[in-house]
Amino acid sequence: MNIASVIVDVPAKQTDKTFDYKIPDKFKDVIKPGIRVIVPFGPRKIQGFVTELKNESSFSKLREIAEPLDLNPVLNEELLELGEWLTEHTLSYKISSYQAMLPAALKAKYEKKIVLARGADLAEVHKKLKDLFMESREIKWDDAVSQGLVQQLHKEASEGRIEVIYQVKDRVRKKLLKHVSPAAEPEQLKEIRGSLSAQASGQQAIIDFFLEHPEPVEQRLILTTLGISQASVNSLVKKGVLKVEELEVYRDPYAEREFARKTALTLTVEQEKAISPILSSIENEQHEVFLLYGVTGSGKTEIYLQSIQEVLNNGKEAIVLVPEIALTPQMVTRFKERFGDYVAVMHSGLSAGEKYDEWRKIQRKEVKVVVGARSAIFAPFENLGIIIIDEEHETSYKQEENPRYHARDVAIQRAKTYNCPVVLGSATPSLESFARAQKGRYTLLSLPKRMNNQALPTVEIVDMREELRTGNRSMFSVKLFEKLKDRIEKKEQTVLFLNKRGHSSFVMCRDCGYVMNCPHCDITLTYHRYNEQMKCHYCGHEDRVPTICPECNSEHIRYFGTGTQKVEEELNKLLPEARVIRMDVDTTGRKGSHERLLTAFQEGQADILLGTQMIAKGLDFPNITLVGVLSADTMLHLPDFRSSEKTFQLLTQVSGRAGRHQLPGEVVIQTYTPEHYSVELAGTQDYDLFYQQEMMVRKVHQYPPFYFISLVTVSHGELMKVVSVTEKVAKFISSRLSKEAVVLGPVASPIPRINDRYRYQCLIKYKKEPELNNALKAILDHYQQEMGKEGLQISVDLNPYILM
Ligand code: ADP
Ligand code: ZN
Ligand code: ZN
Repeated sequence: MNIASVIVDVPAKQTDKTFDYKIPDKFKDVIKPGIRVIVPFGPRKIQGFVTELKNESSFSKLREIAEPLDLNPVLNEELLELGEWLTEHTLSYKISSYQAMLPAALKAKYEKKIVLARGADLAEVHKKLKDLFMESREIKWDDAVSQGLVQQLHKEASEGRIEVIYQVKDRVRKKLLKHVSPAAEPEQLKEIRGSLSAQASGQQAIIDFFLEHPEPVEQRLILTTLGISQASVNSLVKKGVLKVEELEVYRDPYAEREFARKTALTLTVEQEKAISPILSSIENEQHEVFLLYGVTGSGKTEIYLQSIQEVLNNGKEAIVLVPEIALTPQMVTRFKERFGDYVAVMHSGLSAGEKYDEWRKIQRKEVKVVVGARSAIFAPFENLGIIIIDEEHETSYKQEENPRYHARDVAIQRAKTYNCPVVLGSATPSLESFARAQKGRYTLLSLPKRMNNQALPTVEIVDMREELRTGNRSMFSVKLFEKLKDRIEKKEQTVLFLNKRGHSSFVMCRDCGYVMNCPHCDITLTYHRYNEQMKCHYCGHEDRVPTICPECNSEHIRYFGTGTQKVEEELNKLLPEARVIRMDVDTTGRKGSHERLLTAFQEGQADILLGTQMIAKGLDFPNITLVGVLSADTMLHLPDFRSSEKTFQLLTQVSGRAGRHQLPGEVVIQTYTPEHYSVELAGTQDYDLFYQQEMMVRKVHQYPPFYFISLVTVSHGELMKVVSVTEKVAKFISSRLSKEAVVLGPVASPIPRINDRYRYQCLIKYKKEPELNNALKAILDHYQQEMGKEGLQISVDLNPYILM
C-alpha cells in the first residue's frame, strides 16, 4: 500500500476530509494509520494525521509525504474511529477531534530527539545510529532524517531499543537534574578506595555504592541516601573518580512519595450487592452503564478499586475520571496505594511535560490504570476493561471548546467498543443520569448508608433575613459565629464555603429575599451595571433595576456578590486569633499551591479553611467538625436552568465534608431563601425528593432530561451583523424542525460582548429532531466563507452546560 489518506491540520470546512498522498519508498513500513506526518499543502508544509493506507486513489498526480513525525502511531485504530464519532456528535472538525485526544505537548512546537531506550544495549543498535549515539546521548531527529535513517529508526523503535522524545520549545522545559556517576573503571575505583584515608568515610561510601550500582544517580538522592556531604562528592570529582552532569528525569509528580501498598477491604453486604452486577459485566464482557448512587462516605471508591482489581486480573485496563478539583492528593493516594506503579495520573496541575510523560507510560503499556480529569477519557489504552466516572454530575466533564464533548458520552462510546462496563458514581446524580436509571437505560446501584452507619452531619439552615431584622449586618449569622468560636476553643477545624461563580450578579432584597425573575422563563434576571438594567438571557426580557423591593417595599434591595477576600478581612477583625487559609483562584494560581494549602490545613496549621467551590470536593480530614456555607443563594440565581440542581449538589457536597470520622459534624447553611426546595432539601439531604421536585420544574419548562437542548452562538464585531445572522439562523432552523421543537431567540448572550465582539444566541429545545444536525451543518456550511474571511463566528453546542 503506497498511498496514505491524511487529515490535514487546517481546521476549516473545505479541508475537513482526507487528502491522498504518496508514500515515498524510504518511509515504507513507517507510515501507518495513526501516525502524524508533514505533508505539502498548497505552497506550505503542514501537519496531518494518517487515517488509512490504500493502493489506489481517485486522484492522479499525488504529492508525496514529506516526513513522518512519529515512529509509532499516536492514535490507535479505535481512537481514529472514535475521532470520527466525536466529529459527528459535536459537529466539529476531524482535526480538532484528533488533537483533543492527544496531550498538549504533541500539539505544541517541539524539538524531536532520539534517545536510547532505558535498558537498551547500544551494541545492538544499527551501526549508523550507533555512531551518532557515540557522539551524543541524543540524536536530533532532523539529523537522522537528513541522513536517510528513518527506516532504521523505525526498526529500532519497534524493537524497543530507541525512543523519540519531544522537547517542547516554549512550553515545556525538560527536567534536568544533577546526576552523579563513576568516571572510572571498577578496578580504578577499588584502587582509589584503598588509598583513601580512614576519615574519608563519605567518599568510601560513595565508591562502595557505585561499585554496586554503576548507573548515574541523582545527586540529591545519593546525598540523602548515604547521608554524606556535598564536599565528599566534590573531592571525588576533583580526583576524576566521579562526574556530575545534568540529566533528564522522568517527571513523575508523585515520585517522591512512598505509597504503602494496601489491599482490598472486606466489602459490606451493601457493597457486595452493588459490586456484583459490575463484576458480572466485567466477567461476561458485556457493555452496561451503572449509576452508583451513594452518599459521600458510603464506600463508592472501594467499589471502584475492587472492580478495577478484577479488570486488572483479567489483563485489562481501567480509566477513572475524577473532576479536576476533586483530583486531590488524597484521591490519587488511594489509587496509588492499591495499584502502585500501575497508575498514571493526569490533571491540569501537571506541566505539559509531566502530562506527556504520563501519556507515554500509557502508550508504552507501563501502566494499566489512569486517574485523571476530563481529557483522560482519551487515554490510549487498547484493552479497556472498565471506565469509571466519579462525581458524574460535575459539569467540568463537558468540554467548553471544540470539540464540545461530554466525557460521559465518550466513555459510553468507548466502553461499547470494548464491551466493558461504565460506572457513574455520585451522591447527587445529574438529573439526566438518574432519569436514565429510572427508565432502566442505566442500571441503578444504591449505597444508601455511610460506612459503619456513621450519621450524616446535622444541617441547620439559617435565614439571613431574620439576622438582618434582628440587627445583625455581618456576613456571619449569630449561630455560625458562635459555632466558629466554639471550634477554635476546642481546636477543631472549620471549612467556610463561599460560592461565587459566573460573571453575573443578581438583585435581591435583603429583607424578604425577593429575587427578580423573568416573567416568561422562571430564570433569574441578570444585573447589568453598565446600563443599569435587569435582563433575561433566555428570552431577552428587560426591566429597570428596582430601587425598592416590589414585594415588601424595602429599600434594602441590592445586587449581590461577596468575595473570599472580604470574608477573610471580616474574620481577621472578628476572630483575630483564628488562623485562616484562603483558597480561591487568587491563592491557588501557582502550580502545587492547591496541594500545599490543603496539606497545611490537614496538618492543623489553620483553624479555618475558607474557599470557593474548589474546596467542596474530596476533602476528607478527621478534624473538620463544622462546615459553614456563607451564602447558599449565589448559585441559585444564575441564569441557568440547572441552577437549582447545582445548588443542591453543591450544598450536599459541602455538607459531606463534615464529620467523616469519629467526631460528629455540623453544617450551617446561611441563606436568604430558606424556603427554596434546593436549599431545604439539601438541609435534609434528601436527593430523592429533590429529584422529584426538580423533574416537575424541568417538565413544565421543557428542559432536559425531558427535552434536549442545543445552543447556537453567533458573534461578530458589528452588532447589526450579529443580529441579522442570528435571525436568519433562527428562521432557518425553525423551518427545518417539527412543530414540537422550540427555538428561543435570537437574543443577546448572557455575556453580550467579549473582546469587542457582540454575541447573540438561539436556544433550541426539542425531543426528537432527526433533521437538526443536518440543519446545523447546513448553517455552518452556508456561513463558511464569512466565517473564514469576515470574522464571523458561529458556534454550535449540541449539549450546552454553560449557557453564556
Ligand atoms: P465514597 O467514595 O462513597 O465517599 P469511600 O469509598 O471513600 O466512600 O469510603 C468511606 C470510608 O469508608 C473510607 O475511609 C474507606 O476506607 C472506608 N471503607 C470503604 N469500604 C469499606 C469496607 N468494606 N470496610 C471498611 N472500611 C471501608
Ligand atoms: Zn423585599
Ligand atoms: Zn425570559
